[in-house]
Amino acid sequence: MSDKKHSDILPGVGCDVTNCKYNTVDCRCSAQRINVQNEKASSKGETYCATFCARGTN
Ligand code: SF4
Repeated sequence: MSDKKHSDILPGVGCDVTNCKYNTVDCRCSAQRINVQNEKASSKGETYCATFCARGTN
């Protein structure tokens, strides 16, 4: 039986994006899964989390 709560965190994912609604007080991610995008990325700065959702939005 699945009993997932929104407060569950993704093991192994640390994130400092405090303006994301999935970001927790201890800088973890509470999304069920994340997608990191930009298939042409050649540096860290060119990757981004497509699951990001600004606080205060659905
Ligand atoms: S969804 Fe992405 S940006 Fe938001 S807390 Fe998780 S890893 Fe960070």
